[in-house]
Amino acid sequence: MEFSSKLLENAVNEMSQLPGIGKRTALRLVLHLLRQPKEQTLDFTKALNTMRSEIKLCKSCHNISDTDICDICANPNRTENIVCVVEDIRDVMAIENTSSFKGLYHVLGGKISPMDGIGPNELNIYSLVEKVKQGRISELIFALGSTMEGDTTNFYIYKQIQGCDVKTSTIARGISVGNELEYTDEVTLGRSIINRIPFEASLKS
Ligand SMILES: [Zn+2]
Repeated sequence: MEFSSKLLENAVNEMSQLPGIGKRTALRLVLHLLRQPKEQTLDFTKALNTMRSEIKLCKSCHNISDTDICDICANPNRTENIVCVVEDIRDVMAIENTSSFKGLYHVLGGKISPMDGIGPNELNIYSLVEKVKQGRISELIFALGSTMEGDTTNFYIYKQIQGCDVKTSTIARGISVGNELEYTDEVTLGRSIINRIPFEASLKS
């Protein structure tokens, strides 16, 4: 792609770093921004900059938050000893949309995937195991989706908390294999949380 402006080229190159955005789409988006009032671009970049510099991770559940303790963890009406284990904020949002779960979350930040160099130490597993060992959790619900990485991660955590006084369950497999939680419709996901099955039973099937 030949550019008559280096400034334009730089902006297009930056935009095309985003996933799913090729050079042509990047050019279209950048030209769109150029046609809008300047303030709009400033608001856009300001929102990104402010997010990047001020966003936090909840000290308790590791979810993305504006405060040290997120709104879910800080809510006294939530059942704090039932904890749903998820991969990232998209899963939290998907489950919150179902209104079927009133416990807390623990966000791992990914799944164990040796192929991608992600082991247990790269994830927020230690703090979860600690919470269980301290007796702060009565039930752990695994909601990592039915991929091989999800299964591996569930099993790893399950092994770490063997002998602890905690019930483990997994969301029902109404969710087809390979589907990530965020793409599952609310009704199916809500039902699968309510009809969750003991984790041990999921190992036998
Ligand atoms: Zn939290």
